Amino acid sequence: MKNHILLEITYPNKCAACDEIIPEDKFLCDYCAVCIKNTEYKKVCTRCGLQKDNCRCKNREFHFAGIIGAYKNEGIARKAYYSYKMGRRAELADFFAKSCAAAIKEVFADIKFDAVFSVPTAHRSRLKRGFDHSELIAQKIAGILGVNYVRGFLKTRHFRPLQHKSEFAKRLENVRGKYYTDKKIGASNVLLFDDIFTTAATLDECAKELMFAGAGNVYCVSVLSTYLKKKHSGEKKNGN
Ligand SMILES: [Zn+2]
Ligand SMILES: [Zn+2]
Repeated sequence: MKNHILLEITYPNKCAACDEIIPEDKFLCDYCAVCIKNTEYKKVCTRCGLQKDNCRCKNREFHFAGIIGAYKNEGIARKAYYSYKMGRRAELADFFAKSCAAAIKEVFADIKFDAVFSVPTAHRSRLKRGFDHSELIAQKIAGILGVNYVRGFLKTRHFRPLQHKSEFAKRLENVRGKYYTDKKIGASNVLLFDDIFTTAATLDECAKELMFAGAGNVYCVSVLSTYLKKKHSGEKKNGN
């Protein structure tokens, strides 16, 4: 009898950002749904992914042809994303995939994508969460766009991160040579997904590998983009 009662218990659906109980078919409560801020696409440079008034295309060359984040890495969007990633709420992947697909349709409206790839997730974090947070969203984005998701194309090399550089330089150097693939791509426009970008160093490194593997153009999409402050002490004038 006791077991029977336990089986009857169902957990109520909660808002991804504030934990308020909401209907089963929703991801956010009405308040959070109104307050969540999508990226203001017109204010963002889609070449480097930063605000137009802080654009760094002049000082840096990227291997990808364009980049966009669906939300700024703050407030409700950040809370909701961390409920998904750290709170292991895999069911929220649909919401973020739809947000990314909407950003792609808005910013890369004229691009016909041939395949979707994702930045590899560390084995340890995949084991800890029980699901691959990046792969799950990337797969769903591919489903919405009606193209193939290519699993496990990029692999990670393991090496020790540098500790003595400034934050910005460290981010760039820590990912250099970190990703590789031994396969070839026969696709012209590919979409590359990572959940969050800041300097876009990881996405750029993966884009470089995809280009080496034969991709024509790589476009990047993320759930969250972290906008840096205007001054970057470690950024070299012509560095990458
Ligand atoms: Zn809420
Ligand atoms: Zn730019």
